[in-house]
Amino acid sequence: MKFLCDQMLVRLGRWLRAAGYDTAIIETSISDREVLDIALKEGRYLITRDAHFLGFQEAKDLLIWLEANTVEGCARELSQKISINWTKDPFSRCLLCNEELCEAGREIAEEVPEDVRARCDKYWLCKKCGKVYWLGSHTKRMLTKLKKWQK
Ligand SMILES: [Zn+2]
Repeated sequence: MKFLCDQMLVRLGRWLRAAGYDTAIIETSISDREVLDIALKEGRYLITRDAHFLGFQEAKDLLIWLEANTVEGCARELSQKISINWTKDPFSRCLLCNEELCEAGREIAEEVPEDVRARCDKYWLCKKCGKVYWLGSHTKRMLTKLKKWQK
């Protein structure tokens, strides 16, 4: 199951990546038609709050239209509409670019702050943008939230 989030749902898209789903996010201004074409071409569910998409006949099978205004609300609404597993494979993808992360060890320790280095010896690296992730307090808070959404 792959997703495409439009510009209004960037934060939800990042949470889907955090849960481990392959999620493309539209971050530039392109037309509804172009957004739909990407979803069709790449076989992604299109998650949007834009009611204009309801008018596209060919969007019928891939459209997930949400009405909630908050990211929490959208997450709950999404769970009601489709079978989402928020704890599918947490932190297996880069939140910024959707690339799959690879495990890295001490060899990249120089890239992380010293206080983190003292606590963690396991990291995940995005080979596309170079961002390094670790199981710090921020990541743990996100994980707690994902577990809450999964309940
Ligand atoms: Zn990345």
